[in-house]
Amino acid sequence: MAKKKQELMHCDFCGRDESEVQLLMPGLNACICSDCAERANEIARDYLHQMSDRASAELDLGELPKPEEIKAFLDEYVIGQEGAKRYLAVAVYNHYKRLRQKADEEVDIEKSNIIIVGPTGTGKTLLAKTIARMLKVPFAIVDATVLTEAGYVGEDIESLLTRLLATCDYNVEQAQRGIVFIDEIDKIARKGDNPSITRDVSGEGVQQGLLKLLEGSVVNVPPQGGRKHPEQKMIAVDTKNILFICGGAFEGIEQKIAQRLNTHVVGYGAQNHISQLDRERLLHFVAPQDLRAYGLIPEIIGRLPILTNLEPLDRDALRRILTEPKNAITKQYHKLLEMDGVELVIEDDVLDFVVDKAIEYKLGARGLRSIFETIMMDVMYHVPSEKLRQYVLTRGYAGQQLERANFELISQAQ
Ligand code: ADP
Repeated sequence: MAKKKQELMHCDFCGRDESEVQLLMPGLNACICSDCAERANEIARDYLHQMSDRASAELDLGELPKPEEIKAFLDEYVIGQEGAKRYLAVAVYNHYKRLRQKADEEVDIEKSNIIIVGPTGTGKTLLAKTIARMLKVPFAIVDATVLTEAGYVGEDIESLLTRLLATCDYNVEQAQRGIVFIDEIDKIARKGDNPSITRDVSGEGVQQGLLKLLEGSVVNVPPQGGRKHPEQKMIAVDTKNILFICGGAFEGIEQKIAQRLNTHVVGYGAQNHISQLDRERLLHFVAPQDLRAYGLIPEIIGRLPILTNLEPLDRDALRRILTEPKNAITKQYHKLLEMDGVELVIEDDVLDFVVDKAIEYKLGARGLRSIFETIMMDVMYHVPSEKLRQYVLTRGYAGQQLERANFELISQAQ
């Protein structure tokens, strides 16, 4: 039997009864309906944002890490890549300076977005993640490959900012001072030389859209990203002060560099000099024209004024990666075994062996971890129950383990 009107529970905020609302939640002495709860949530969130905005008022340069300190911090985690580290350190520091600038100052410091070109697995993402650890502003890493021009399957360009907003709990003020790392920017290069034949929805179209963000404009960001929630309320974000760092492998760009260098160099000795250059070292000479030849539109290149490159990692660098970074894989294993009261001793030639295998299977730095983990798997399984005080990892055992695990086959299948 239906309840009488006066028997129904009411929302103590809007007065509507349970038949008029979707959900009524009882408390100790009062009830609240889902609509009022939602509204209360919004009000509370706005209030808390205002409070935290006030708290994080001005960035005090005195307290901020100087470029040399930023670089030193990067050194703890990233091996080599001196040039890129310096560029990043200066760019981040300058970014802080711009944020401190008052609107009425005479000289307007413009932002300098960065583009880092480097072979895959040489530390682009690692650099970005490491710098994020020490930043005083929101930082998000996003992937350019999911983007397509508005109206096509994929994600709208604006959704790049969704992640940034999420990292600062949708505090627009803070997001507007943040840094976005766009990975795999090379994947939105124009496909082919003539874009008019077929529409290039994930290439040039995306670049045009991205340009708007890089230039600095107010864009409407879907708070949940993607296009799956057409009903969501957009959040207006001004990108004027957001620093963009782009990274990409630009596979094959060496050819464009070589072509340009050959055509520009006149004279006998110079020609010889270039033909002797290690192909990989050509990346050193990467210039904006090469990015253009690769398929980035000139307007985008113009908005990424700092161009730097990452070095391919040689044998020596790979070996150092195994032992030197603060979170080096061997250090992690020392720690893991130490927790079982076991001292791990890794013989030197094991490290050489791991590096050799990473090179042989063309896995680069990324492979070091999987190779080492494969070698250590059985040790980690048995040693904790064996009451050892020390475990010595030898080259012979390492080779055996890789063979047993069929590592060659596994890595080739990947
Ligand atoms: P990408 O350049 O493709 O973004 P990543 O930064 O993701 O490469 O590197 C993959 C992994 O390889 C990292 O997580 C890290 O373990 C290792 N690595 C790559 N480059 C370096 C480096 N320069 N110093 C230390 N570790 C590195």
